[in-house]
Amino acid sequence: MRTVRLHDTRSGELQVLTPRRGDEVGIYACGPTVYARIHVGNARPFVVFSQLARFLAHEGYEPTLVINVTDVNDKIYGAAVAAGVPSSPLAEEMTAHYVEDTSRLGLGRPDAEPRATETIDSIVGLISELIDRDAAYAVDGDVYFRVRSDPEYGSLSKRRPDQMEQGEDVEGADRKEDPLDFALWKGRKDGEDTSWDAPWGRGRPGWHIECSAMAEDLLGVGFEIHGGGNDLAFPHHENEAAQTRRARDAELARIWMHNGMLQLGEEKMAKSVGNVAALHAVLDQWGHEALLMFFASGHYRQPIAFDDDSMRAATARVAGIRETARRLVDGASPEDMAVHKEAFFDALADDFNTARALSHLAAWVNEANRRTGVGRDDLAEMLGVLGLEHLATVEEVALGAEEQELLERRQTARAERDFAEADRLRDELRARGFEVRDGPSGPELVPVS
Ligand SMILES: [Zn+2]
Repeated sequence: MRTVRLHDTRSGELQVLTPRRGDEVGIYACGPTVYARIHVGNARPFVVFSQLARFLAHEGYEPTLVINVTDVNDKIYGAAVAAGVPSSPLAEEMTAHYVEDTSRLGLGRPDAEPRATETIDSIVGLISELIDRDAAYAVDGDVYFRVRSDPEYGSLSKRRPDQMEQGEDVEGADRKEDPLDFALWKGRKDGEDTSWDAPWGRGRPGWHIECSAMAEDLLGVGFEIHGGGNDLAFPHHENEAAQTRRARDAELARIWMHNGMLQLGEEKMAKSVGNVAALHAVLDQWGHEALLMFFASGHYRQPIAFDDDSMRAATARVAGIRETARRLVDGASPEDMAVHKEAFFDALADDFNTARALSHLAAWVNEANRRTGVGRDDLAEMLGVLGLEHLATVEEVALGAEEQELLERRQTARAERDFAEADRLRDELRARGFEVRDGPSGPELVPVS
């Protein structure tokens, strides 16, 4: 088991991952607000934290990955009104799309995918505790968190109070004691078609409180890793941290990990900017292997530019690995090549540096290309962390008798120097899905991927 270091936003430093209990590692990552189909930028945290969980499992830790679904929210109300449908079926439909689209990434599902609307009891309990402790107050059916009651507020996102614009609508402004305060509960308004009973009136939870409640329900407080996009550090994560600190006298999480944004053109990909590429459309165009390779090609903390050139490069990388895998044999890899595999996993233990890890994977592949009869086990082990283990195993394709005959006729044509006929037969094989490769041991038919 390697010592794993991860960059913690709160301390601004690398922290050694130290589980509370045995080898168990709780990971909570903020998931989507389901008001539209997700774009490829929304998929980055899903990929990063799913791959991180795989890596930790590889090292012998026991990760539990939780990614929530925000299924009650102003954005959902807005989208439902715009579409002329009730908000609850819209959220259900978009949740189903989210599960379908992210399942296509081939990384499996998180261990738990809690929904805000199914966590109302815990949310109400947490808000009640905050009110009891004078960290929150009810006013006209709303409940607000008293930001200045938390002396450590701002310590996660490193902001001064004058930089703490909560980004909430002005509607509640006259009800807040202080403009810094943020909503824990919003009293039901006309036009909102979902609401729940609470001691301070019927309404629905604010966004931030749901994550404090869901994370605690599933992982307890003081769990190991809280993740999400760096656009969530303020106010969302700052507020999550403050709520739990004031309600439980404990930190919500030990390490706060933030992934960089996906850039399209000059700006971050965002629905509000209008420069989005839907995840399902990107998967249709490029496939999940190229997309996973693309994400892994950048360090998770850095912004990453999404464009055709990057996706073509990722596609070529996948094809190169597949090509090498065709020449590998089943079984253990040569011991003297293990140095590349060790360096691959060491890079992941060093703030989950997938970009550097891929350079060591490439070194392994280059070495394998120089040899014959290399066993595929190490390659499969490395690719497994990325969710690409199947690339290491090329399935034997049974050639039909007709393809076999076409190949033999092509050999004859070449021997007779009838290159036009040989080319025609090559094209015919290609139309049947096979590429002819002339290798040192004779021609070979390779399925066109
Ligand atoms: Zn959250």
